Amino acid sequence: MAEVKRARWTNWAGNQSAAPLQIHQPRTEDELLAVVRRAAQQGERVKAVGSGHSFTSIALTDGHLLDLTQYNRVIESTTDRDPERSEPARHLVTVQSGIRLKELNPQLWDLGYSMTNLGDVAYQSISGAMSTGTHGTGKDVGSIATQVRALRVITGDGEVVECSMDHERELFQAARVGVGAAGLISTVTLEVEPAFNLRAQEVLVSADDLFANMDSYLEENEHFEFFWFPGSDNALTKRNNRTTDEATPLPRWREFVTDEIVGHRYMAHATKLLRVPGLRMKLRSLLEGARGEYVERSYKVFTSERKIPFYEMEYFIPSEHAREAFERVRVLIDRSGFGVVMPIEMRWVAPDDIPLSTAEGRPTTSIAIHMLKHQEFQPYFEAVETIMTEYEGRPHWGKLHFQTHRSLAPLYPQWDAYQAARARLDGRGTFANEYTDRVLGAVGG
Ligand SMILES: Cc1cc2nc3c(=O)[nH]c(=O)nc-3n(C[C@H](O)[C@H](O)[C@H](O)COP(=O)(O)OP(=O)(O)OC[C@H]3O[C@@H](n4cnc5c(N)ncnc54)[C@H](O)[C@@H]3O)c2cc1C
Repeated sequence: MAEVKRARWTNWAGNQSAAPLQIHQPRTEDELLAVVRRAAQQGERVKAVGSGHSFTSIALTDGHLLDLTQYNRVIESTTDRDPERSEPARHLVTVQSGIRLKELNPQLWDLGYSMTNLGDVAYQSISGAMSTGTHGTGKDVGSIATQVRALRVITGDGEVVECSMDHERELFQAARVGVGAAGLISTVTLEVEPAFNLRAQEVLVSADDLFANMDSYLEENEHFEFFWFPGSDNALTKRNNRTTDEATPLPRWREFVTDEIVGHRYMAHATKLLRVPGLRMKLRSLLEGARGEYVERSYKVFTSERKIPFYEMEYFIPSEHAREAFERVRVLIDRSGFGVVMPIEMRWVAPDDIPLSTAEGRPTTSIAIHMLKHQEFQPYFEAVETIMTEYEGRPHWGKLHFQTHRSLAPLYPQWDAYQAARARLDGRGTFANEYTDRVLGAVGG
């Protein structure tokens, strides 16, 4: 196993860094176990890192950092057919926890499968994504953690526990969105679907049209989201629906325009550009001409590239308050002078029963705000957080926020169940760090 002493580690956004005691690159479960057992004996801490795509200090450690990029194989693919039950067969794929979604998706496609839903990007590891409740959009579709059917988890003492909804259910539920503190995930078994294409429709509309048609957008589409560009009265709507039609991939030049110009630079500076009347029409036709409508493999439609670094905060509120909360953020931005040039993204997530899931127990809408890396983000993010807390908003575990376990515990009805399972999985706090001390409290505390 490759090991590096005293190297620095930095996250994708460049706002979090650490000097771990040692960085390990395991390739096998035995190597993971060896690091955890040795650290536990010596009273040292361990932190797994996926692809470092969290904006918070969630993946930092001054102990042993497990870089899982080499622990990235697809282990097996099975079809689970129960003759006793009339339910359709389930397709299950088991992977090592460090596999990145961009590695996993094409391999699944070659096996004939797709993941039910994905977030905006595919850079994350499967275990990093599930651990923070990473999600896409679709009012009837849950986060990535809801696609997980079984886990092998390593405890803070270096033992292996297998868990699922039928076996060690409490541990399974805690580890599905474990915030990096409910054991070290070794393998993940996902339920996947026969591979499917999506028809994508990406259209710029006025904010008035958006809100007039919001209910039908939500009812008529499997996946609906929008990006509103502050000060511009324009929103980019994205509607994705399954289709049996053949893929009609974008020609290379349209993909280039979309990903390189529209996706990065336009998203990052859209607000300023859209305020200029002449440019507004040009951008609108560029965007719609380049992208508009197309059919592609599901994972290619769900995810795109993000190359310009930014900071992000995202809040999850009950869907019934979404419109009002969004309006308040809109007014705040218009009156504040925060200099916001990046869009506000609004998405929907189906309720689930996972204790620390941000969609636990309620139909959920997420509101995400962004700032370019060189901009001062804190006053803007704090002001939006104040609005979101009035709606019992829950922050994304991997995105910037200012909450502590004291303010978070009342937002999660199953908080104590999570803490009890966490104490069983990691009673000595091997996987704790400053972030988990802040947002979850000390283990057993
Ligand atoms: C450009 C960009 C786009 C994004 N888009 C979305 C989006 O569309 N939707 C969304 O919800 N989020 C989104 N995010 C947030 C991102 O999905 C989460 O922060 C996710 O956790 C990052 O995954 P990662 O592999 O980088 O995990 P890391 O940031 O490396 O780690 C996150 C946590 O998971 C833990 N962890 C990792 N592996 C294991 C393991 N094997 N066992 C136990 N714990 C483990 C880490 O210790 C840490 O606590 C985005 C972030 C960026 C930067």
